Amino acid sequence: RSKDKGGSQFTFFASDMNARVERRLLLENKLRQAIDTSLLYLAYQPKWDTASGALVGVEALVRWNDEVEGNISPAEFIPLAEECGLIHDIDLWVLEKACREILALKQQCDCSLQLSVNFSPSHFIRFDICEEVSAVLRRTHFPGHDLELEITENLVGPDVVDISSKIHAIRDLGVEISIDDFGTAYSSLSRLKQLPLNTLKIDKSFIQDLEDDPDDKTLVRTIIAMAHNLNMKVVAEGVETQAQYDFVRQYQCDMVQGYLLGKPISAEELEILLKQCQQSASGQQRL
Ligand code: C2E
Ligand code: MG
Ligand code: MG
Ligand code: MG
Repeated sequence: RSKDKGGSQFTFFASDMNARVERRLLLENKLRQAIDTSLLYLAYQPKWDTASGALVGVEALVRWNDEVEGNISPAEFIPLAEECGLIHDIDLWVLEKACREILALKQQCDCSLQLSVNFSPSHFIRFDICEEVSAVLRRTHFPGHDLELEITENLVGPDVVDISSKIHAIRDLGVEISIDDFGTAYSSLSRLKQLPLNTLKIDKSFIQDLEDDPDDKTLVRTIIAMAHNLNMKVVAEGVETQAQYDFVRQYQCDMVQGYLLGKPISAEELEILLKQCQQSASGQQRL
């Protein structure tokens, strides 16, 4: 009997695996086409300064709308793109598109705004990204000092020398570097200290449990203090409630992003938001 059960379980797993492999292949082919036929587009999530309440930047987030599948989340297709070697094309497409869209907006609204773009670790490690980034800046005329690259914490891993030279070269373009999803990997402080990093972004999992989890309170306070000691700025991502906002502001977190203050929006919606911020009496103040 137990043998039977095992057999049917195996069949269950095998068919489940089959379905997953099939979906993967389907999505991989669709993704290739989506890149070639520009079915990808960008959303921008505002970033707010906690001291002044000003809108100080936006993060470009890639979106994919498939005719049949509908919206497919980057949480699903970015890992797939990494595995099948499409991430390089996606990251560069996002960078160039975002530079063009945001430069046009900045010129229209005559405001300062930092643009943050996510770069996958596998892309960062394997390619001459400094040359790629500087080529995009030249082509688009986007000012390097208004650009920030977000790389995830696990990149600041063991092979620090190689990463270090790339990060220095990027910083020489005026471009800033932010460590995304901070707290989810185990990067050592001494490594972080060796690199010319500008910003730590506290992962939203810590922000989301702030109200009930005393450990997360301690952790968030500690990360902010540590980052400031290392001369880095801190962003809290995923701020959804006023209590979370009040907490991070109380401990001098420099900037916040999250649904409380703004979801990712289209370039057209961002233009409206920028104009509203400019018109409001206190400049871009909104908090
Ligand atoms: P991320 O860079 O950490 O971006 C933050 C994610 O959290 C975004 O999800 C954003 O929409 C979401 N978010 C923002 N505020 C809140 C909030 O208050 N609550 C909650 N629950 N979520 C919030 P999204 O757009 O689905 O992107 C997921 C991840 O996909 C990103 O995480 C990033 O790692 C990756 N990604 C997105 N665009 C790109 C890209 O152009 N290139 C690369 N390499 N990765 C990208
Ligand atoms: Mg990010
Ligand atoms: Mg993040
Ligand atoms: Mg993330």
